[in-house]
Amino acid sequence: MRIARFAKGDGVAYGVVEGELEQPLTIAELHGHPFGIDPAGVRYTGHRYPLAEVRLLAPVLPSKVVAVGKNYAEHVKEMRKLSGEDELPAEPVLFLKPSTSVTGHGDRIAYPVKLTDRVDYEGELAVIIGRLCRDVPKERAVDVIFGYTCANDVTARDLQFKDGQWTRAKGFDTFCPLGPWMETGLDPADLGLTTTVNGAVRQHARTSELLWDVPSLIEFVSSVMTLLPGDVLLTGTPEGVGALTDGDEVSVTIESIGTLTNRVVIRDLPGPAEFSRNLPGQAVAQVAELPLHMRLRPAVAAVGEDRDLLVLYRDLVVGGEDRGRRADAVHQADAD
Ligand code: MG
Repeated sequence: MRIARFAKGDGVAYGVVEGELEQPLTIAELHGHPFGIDPAGVRYTGHRYPLAEVRLLAPVLPSKVVAVGKNYAEHVKEMRKLSGEDELPAEPVLFLKPSTSVTGHGDRIAYPVKLTDRVDYEGELAVIIGRLCRDVPKERAVDVIFGYTCANDVTARDLQFKDGQWTRAKGFDTFCPLGPWMETGLDPADLGLTTTVNGAVRQHARTSELLWDVPSLIEFVSSVMTLLPGDVLLTGTPEGVGALTDGDEVSVTIESIGTLTNRVVIRDLPGPAEFSRNLPGQAVAQVAELPLHMRLRPAVAAVGEDRDLLVLYRDLVVGGEDRGRRADAVHQADAD
């Protein structure tokens, strides 16, 4: 099942994308938030729209994006040529991208031209976590996965080498396009992944080439940090990374999921008087939609008896309550 998050007029909602690819698709609007619900048990509002008449948004607003570096052997080799370092890593190399780097299909990638001279694409399979979880054995990873989507781990390559750690290089606003939707019924073990720039193929690999597969990554990451519903795991990029320039159209296609496309636009840094007027649309939507977290309560009910996790999660939920009431007035279309 393909589940998308979309905007139609002033409203934001989730919906099921229906139809065969290559044909005009429709989107069937859902009640509330699908997380924590068996995808087979989602409820429809009865409203259906041609997909071309809605704006797709990033399919989730994650609390964090956990990413893995150097997870394809051939990419490790090409990075060695660029940086002069490293053999194959002995363990997965983890880093975080901020939630504010997330953007959706069709949104621009903003190139901060005064801060970096090289911005690269990195096509990747993204895993969407569906349940609150910690210490997940790889045999049970499938139980905590909601679905999969395409990702572009956009990277300021010069800053990555200069800084030694990757927060700045990976963390700019719009540096984490996700989409176009989540595919829930999928085996991630052997999917073709292709990245194109202006139609030319730059990366092509299969997820069977991953050094650590999806279940192993879930086990490894969840042994470090609790994962919340909607959190995103980027599984690493294959060889063929390269630079983007102003106006480039970059697409990441994953077999059985779809194609994520974004255009690169130069972002000159604003003067002091403009600083608060220059927020990307996605960040504004993210603040307005905080009440969505409150609708994750069914997921809490699904996780069982772990009191610490429930307390942690309840704090997050209650923290959003006041802001939620105000935003609810704006987002009636999302109300249950
Ligand atoms: Mg990457």
